[in-house]
Amino acid sequence: MKTKIVTIGKTESGKTESPESVEEKLAEAGRIIRQGGLVAFPTETVYGLGGDALNPESSRKIYAAKGRPCDNPLIVHIAELSYLERIVCDIPGKAQKLADAFWPGPLTMIFRKAAVVPKQTTGGLDTVAVRMPSHPVATSFIKKAGGYVAAPSANLSGKPSPTLAKYVIQDMDGRIDMIIDAEGVEIGLESTIVDVTGTVPMILRPGYITQQMLSAVVGETDMDVTIYDSSSPQAPKAPGMKYRHYAPRGELVIVEGEPQQVVRYINVQTALHEAEGKRTGIIGTQETIAQYHAFSIKNAGSRSDAKAVARQLYTFLREFDDEDIAYIYAESFAETFADKGLGQAVMNRLLKAAGHKVVHV
Ligand code: AMP
Ligand code: MG
Repeated sequence: MKTKIVTIGKTESGKTESPESVEEKLAEAGRIIRQGGLVAFPTETVYGLGGDALNPESSRKIYAAKGRPCDNPLIVHIAELSYLERIVCDIPGKAQKLADAFWPGPLTMIFRKAAVVPKQTTGGLDTVAVRMPSHPVATSFIKKAGGYVAAPSANLSGKPSPTLAKYVIQDMDGRIDMIIDAEGVEIGLESTIVDVTGTVPMILRPGYITQQMLSAVVGETDMDVTIYDSSSPQAPKAPGMKYRHYAPRGELVIVEGEPQQVVRYINVQTALHEAEGKRTGIIGTQETIAQYHAFSIKNAGSRSDAKAVARQLYTFLREFDDEDIAYIYAESFAETFADKGLGQAVMNRLLKAAGHKVVHV
């Protein structure tokens, strides 16, 4: 299949693109979706791989393009609140409050699904995940596509979610109809997922919208135990969370401890690997970065700025693959951020990328 790649925002001469030209491109993207095709598009979290959420054949194609296990349900993206009613059984009061507070934005809610949503979209479940993104290109595209776009992240299954179009192209060129390249994919982590089908809203995947922010709007909230306790025998309530996700090709280890000990430990390990002729990589922070030695050193920014780490994490993991790095060491971000909630979301992804390999020094 030939994949059409369209860039939105800038013309070749560097000028801002006219609204008419943007409209035309997004209209074509919308047509592709309505005819059962697939389009990757930017959102404020990561790039999504979109298909018509109400067409079972489109969902089947999404799973095939990603190589994704078909028990891992998709998130349905809408562009206006009025579209929600058609695809869910009911809108609980707390869900309405959360929608008013955080939509459009990086929050996904799980509802009981209406019959119109095919089981192919929900991985066989009776519930459906819904999000209203805030990225203007996403919003306009979803409207033109008929209003309901099922979209997981636009990566091959098991790879880090793409925050840059070049990584969407790397994974999806030849597998889907169109890729829309635009700026503004700024958050860098997937949405927070909250199940609103019970009395107390339950967080199934941490993200940019933190538990504290949710509780400020609806009072008590819960968190799926598997998020913070990897030794829990329970299965995660979001089916996708059980898969090893976000992984770079190299072996990634997280190192916890007092900063100077961490630096010393990591430098010894990278020196040993380099002596064996292996390439090494490090994710460090502003406070320690100058002290490290490795083939590739990534600066995640200041320890006080969880947003910067969130934005760059997946790009770092992809770059380590591009650079053919065999061993990667990352500082732990567990307890250090002032913004504990977002720090937890970052650590959740990093732990998955590392297959839970953590060293305490
Ligand atoms: P992705 O689209 O790659 O960000 O993955 C979507 C995530 O949403 C996966 O972890 C899914 O398991 C989760 N999800 C989607 N629909 C549901 C649902 N109905 N119930 C629970 N989790 C869901
Ligand atoms: Mg994903």
